Amino acid sequence: MALPRKDLFDLPEGVIYLDGNSLGPLPKGVAERAAEVVSREWGGELIRGWNSCNWMEQPARVGNRIAKLIGAPEGSVVMGDTLSIKVFQALSAGLAMRPDRRVILSDNGNFPTDLYMAEGLVAMKGAGFELRVVDPEQVAGAITDEVAVVMLTEVDYRTGRKHDMGALTKLAHEAGAVMLWDLAHSAGAVEVDLTASNCEFAVGCTYKYLNGGPGAPAFIYVRPNLSEEAEPVLSGWLGHGAPFAFELNYRPARGVERMRVGTPPVIQLSVLEEALKVWDGVTMAGVRAASVALSERFIAEVEARCPELTLCSPRDAAVRGSQVSFRFEHGYAAMQALIARGVIGDFRAPDVMRFGFTPLYLDEANVVAAVDVMAEVLDGRLWDREEYRRANRVT
Ligand SMILES: *Cc1c(COP(=O)(O)O)cnc(C)c1O
Repeated sequence: MALPRKDLFDLPEGVIYLDGNSLGPLPKGVAERAAEVVSREWGGELIRGWNSCNWMEQPARVGNRIAKLIGAPEGSVVMGDTLSIKVFQALSAGLAMRPDRRVILSDNGNFPTDLYMAEGLVAMKGAGFELRVVDPEQVAGAITDEVAVVMLTEVDYRTGRKHDMGALTKLAHEAGAVMLWDLAHSAGAVEVDLTASNCEFAVGCTYKYLNGGPGAPAFIYVRPNLSEEAEPVLSGWLGHGAPFAFELNYRPARGVERMRVGTPPVIQLSVLEEALKVWDGVTMAGVRAASVALSERFIAEVEARCPELTLCSPRDAAVRGSQVSFRFEHGYAAMQALIARGVIGDFRAPDVMRFGFTPLYLDEANVVAAVDVMAEVLDGRLWDREEYRRANRVT
C-alpha cells in the first residue's frame, strides 16, 4: 500500500507535525472508540466488562499486534505499566539469570530514565552491583565477562544514532551476557527483527511512533524459550498463574503474561488497539524506505537553506533512526518560533532541535514546506524574541 496514509489521521489544519517520535498524533476512529469504551463498555457493562468485553485478554491481544511490528512471535509480548517499569522488570530478570555477575552495561546516549531505573535496581541489590555507562561507540569493547546485562536503546533519542542490534547482541552472548533492547524509538519507526537478533528481552513505549496517546502503556518482550525462566521481580497478582484463586503465595503465570503486574489500563489499551489499525496493510520495510527518503530530503534542504544549523544525526541513513537533529545555539527559541508557525518539532537540552519523520502522514511536500518556515525564521532571526526564550515545563 502506498504511503502516506494521511486519510487515517486527524491532524489539525495548518500544522506540519514533525514530533510523532515523541507523541504520535490521533488516528481516525480513536475518539469514537474511546467514547464507546467509556459509555458502552464501562458505563453499560460495569464489572461484567472484564468478561463480556474481554478486558482481561487485552494486554496479551494488543501485545500480539505489536509483536508483528517488531519481528516477534505470537505470545512473546505483553502490555502494561510504563516503559520505566518495563525496563526495571527486564533488567531485574536479566540480572537473576546471571547470578555470578554484577554489572549492568549501558551507554550515555541512553534515555535517562533507563539509567535511573538501573541505578535504583543496583542500589537495591547492594554490594558489588554496578551500572557501568560508556560512550555509545565504546559499548562493543566494554562487553566483558563481568557484564550480566547489556541494556541499550537502539535509536538514540537525541541524535537518532542507531546501534547495530544484531552485532551487539552477538557480542553480548559471546561474553555470556543477557541482552536487553529498548525499542522506544524503533517500534513503528525502523525494521526490527527480535527473533533474528536473538536478544533475551526488549521493551518499548506506544505513545511515540505507535500513536497510542499520552500515557499509553508499554510493552515487554521475553524470548519465548525463557518465558518460563524469567523471574518477575514485580510479582503482582495479574502476573500470577491463577489470579482469581487468590492464593497466599506468588507463583508466576506461564509465558510472558508473568510480566503483567496489576490491573490493565483498559481505556488506554482500547485506544491503542484502535490506533494500531493504521499499520494494517503497510510493511515496516515500506515505512522505513519512506522515512529514509523524507529524512534525506530534509537534511539536504536544511543544509542548503539554513547554514546556522549543524547536523548532529548520523549522515548515513543506515545508522540513523527515523528522526533528524540539528544543533543550534538558540535552538530552544528557534523551535518555539517554528511551533508558533505550525511546524512542530521539539528541543532537547542543551541545543538540539529534533524532527521526527513519520511517513504514515508526512510527504516530501510537507518536508519542503517545513524547511521554508525554518529558513524564514532563521534568516529573519524571528526566534529572537522574549516570548520564545521562556522555558516551558515540557520541552
Ligand atoms: C520515551 C522513552 C522512555 C519513557 O519512559 P516512560 O516510563 O514511558 O515515561 C524511556 N526510555 C526511552 C529510551 C525512551 O525513549
